[in-house]
Amino acid sequence: MLQPWLKCVVIKTEDITHSTRRFWIQIPELTSFDFEPGQFVTFDLPIHEQRNKRWRSYSIASAPDGSNIFELVIVLMEDGLGTPHLFNDVTVGSELIVRGPQGKFTMPPVLDKDLFLICTGTGIAPFRSMVHYIDQHQIPHQRIHLVFGCREFKDSLYESELKYLEKSMVNFYHHPCFSRELSVGQGQYSGYVHACYKTIIEAHRSETGILPPAYFYLCGWKNMVDDAKKTLLEIGYDKQAIHLELYG
Ligand SMILES: Cc1cc2nc3c(=O)[nH]c(=O)nc-3n(C[C@H](O)[C@H](O)[C@H](O)COP(=O)(O)OP(=O)(O)OC[C@H]3O[C@@H](n4cnc5c(N)ncnc54)[C@H](O)[C@@H]3O)c2cc1C
Repeated sequence: MLQPWLKCVVIKTEDITHSTRRFWIQIPELTSFDFEPGQFVTFDLPIHEQRNKRWRSYSIASAPDGSNIFELVIVLMEDGLGTPHLFNDVTVGSELIVRGPQGKFTMPPVLDKDLFLICTGTGIAPFRSMVHYIDQHQIPHQRIHLVFGCREFKDSLYESELKYLEKSMVNFYHHPCFSRELSVGQGQYSGYVHACYKTIIEAHRSETGILPPAYFYLCGWKNMVDDAKKTLLEIGYDKQAIHLELYG
């Protein structure tokens, strides 16, 4: 059953790159906004006369913390309708109409295999929520590889935070991949996300003779998600192991 539309308020914003902004949203009429890491919310934005053409969905980037506040990370699409409104007309104090949480892009109930979280750009949102949730709740897990892709260093999202978490969280590895940077630092990759996770998988296979048993979660825009799914199937993974969240 669909949830009711609720009023919410933007309580804080922060530009994270030249085209990406963090939005902190509060739903005052709820004491707690309960969701599972990986879920999304939908806004009804005043951008079109037809109701269903006004709806835009955004994955929740924060972990559930029992409060009525959550974080989103949104990239501006200059030729779109919704994001120019969110970036140019919406400020701290603005009211929006929201529905959620929605979606089934959530973690397996037991993390008994490696977890590959593969994304580009703001596709990192659900994975940031999952990783913080696992850390905060000390959920037993195997290796977690967060493979994040963007073009240049200036496009990177949450990198220092996740590199910091990598130091304190056992078996968590953050792999930022830069497709347009030739010279990268330690722990960073030059190239697309696909080369990165393939290298990790192949290293395991040459060491043990088998593919690492794993769950794959892919999130972001269609091209990357389609290519990653195809690559993983070619490597020999079953499609049941691959979970997708498509942004468009
Ligand atoms: C489950 C889910 C979660 C998502 N989570 C996030 C998230 O966390 N962060 C995030 O940044 N995004 C997320 N998205 C994407 C988001 O919902 C929007 O699609 C995105 O913000 C673009 O919205 P927009 O209204 O600005 O662009 P739109 O108006 O929807 O346009 C999108 C693109 O289509 C093109 N376009 C628009 N109208 C036309 C037309 N008539 N003909 C041809 N092309 C056209 C535009 O050039 C634009 O580039 C998510 C999507 C889904 C489904």
